[in-house]
Amino acid sequence: MISFPKHIQKTMPYQAGKPIAELARETGIDESAIIKLASNENPLGMSPRAKQLAMQALDEVSRYPDAHGFSLKLELSKRFSVPDQWITLGNGSNDILEMVASTFLQPGAAAVFSQYAFIVYAQATQRVGADAIVVPAKDYGNDLVAMLAAVTPDTRVIFLANPNNPTGTFLPSAEIAQFLESVPAHVVVVLDEAYNEYLPQELRFDSVEWVRKYPNLILSRTLSKAYGLAGLRVGYAIAQPHITDYMNRIRQAFNVSNVAQAAAIGALQDEEFLQQTYASNRKGLEQLIRSVSALGIEYIPSYANFVLIHLPQANAVYQALLSRGVIVRPVGVYGLAEWLRISVGTEAENEAFARALLHALQTLKENANG
Ligand SMILES: *Cc1c(COP(=O)(O)O)cnc(C)c1O
Repeated sequence: MISFPKHIQKTMPYQAGKPIAELARETGIDESAIIKLASNENPLGMSPRAKQLAMQALDEVSRYPDAHGFSLKLELSKRFSVPDQWITLGNGSNDILEMVASTFLQPGAAAVFSQYAFIVYAQATQRVGADAIVVPAKDYGNDLVAMLAAVTPDTRVIFLANPNNPTGTFLPSAEIAQFLESVPAHVVVVLDEAYNEYLPQELRFDSVEWVRKYPNLILSRTLSKAYGLAGLRVGYAIAQPHITDYMNRIRQAFNVSNVAQAAAIGALQDEEFLQQTYASNRKGLEQLIRSVSALGIEYIPSYANFVLIHLPQANAVYQALLSRGVIVRPVGVYGLAEWLRISVGTEAENEAFARALLHALQTLKENANG
């Protein structure tokens, strides 16, 4: 008999947003008519510059990628004024989170994160057989005071997303700074800034400056969201070299493909596309909020590219939306069974979502009335 380690037996697969092709197969709806607002992807696609460099890199795919990611690290290094020894590249920032777990956790050690935190924190912790200390959320977001209080002598990692996914909540820099000041030295803090680029100017802050100050801080960023490269899988961490050194020891040598590395460089260089993305998201978020507010639906104010909305019949609404070719994200696995997460789409997509939602709610009401 094959026996699986206990912690592996308890590991659950990640539930991703439903792919467009899958819904097309299931319903017969044409792929081009399907709207996916389920995975916080960039509705504008990818930057033209990123695409150009990715296409060029296709000529090199018979070669292994640069295992050290020299050129991409150089780009990041210039951008953030940190040496390349401070940067770890990941196959998406998911890979970064897994690397953190493998580097710092083991059975008997613990990771602290919030209720309603990104589910990968729980999975990465479980996968290495460590304990999860889940701290009750405050107003659907991270409760930093409670998280600090939850740290035990065995705690090695605190995972903290800001803005938070799936709730979209945000903590201002002063609160995070105070928190970092108080975290015990034996605990590594992972500040996951997957949605950083969506913050309005007045809320931004230089978290890289904190990495210089705190030897136990790891910043995690991704090119999957605002940079529009979700399918290519590129993320990166910034931390002091004593941490980066160990992360690189356990990192798979060729974890970021040559096409992905090239595209990432192009994406980072394309400020204009990033600006367009930001502006489009602000408008789209307002548009979505207007639509759900008009229907009297409660929502959590969001600082990212999605919004969490409250629907007592969330699952029925999800199914009804699917039947109309609109994919959103149920968040029952987060303990939010009465909510749906809607990613911001283009103006037309947001409009189509609003129409489908109205229709879904009317249908459910008619069915309830017999
Ligand atoms: C989407 C997301 C990520 C990472 O996605 P990758 O595609 O693996 O880079 C990381 N953290 C949070 C909070 C996210 O929402």
